[in-house]
Amino acid sequence: MPLSDDVLVDRLRDAGLRVTKPKLATLAVLEEARARHEHLPVAAVAERVRERIGTLSAQGAYDCLDALVESGLARRIEPAGQPTLYEARVRDNHHHLVCRGCGLVTDVDCTVGDALCLTPSATNGFVLDEAEVTFWGRCPSCAGSTEA
Ligand SMILES: [Zn+2]
Ligand SMILES: [Zn+2]
Repeated sequence: MPLSDDVLVDRLRDAGLRVTKPKLATLAVLEEARARHEHLPVAAVAERVRERIGTLSAQGAYDCLDALVESGLARRIEPAGQPTLYEARVRDNHHHLVCRGCGLVTDVDCTVGDALCLTPSATNGFVLDEAEVTFWGRCPSCAGSTEA
């Protein structure tokens, strides 16, 4: 279900961001991707934003994504050896499964809920608010193709 621009405008304002056309389009693109369980690299975000509003430079795309990430509206994930990915699913402490074969990234819910589901043996005085877990393996189609 696509969110209306009004909802997205409110979300940008609530996050303390100045509402601009590129930011609004970037958030809309990420929300659409979220509905399809996609995690998008910058290039794909920029391409889809351009389809909506005509132009957006690569730097413009980075600037919008950085602003959304810093204000908590988007999340950046950086699996080793993969392009940086962005998504609008935030604040639920979910984790990711990454396929070593094709690079497919899939969400996996935290087993405990919103709170940290990993407790380190020592926190060294840090106040922890997030545990980022990436599970590496092979997706069903890659696993199938190597078994043959
Ligand atoms: Zn795969
Ligand atoms: Zn995710």
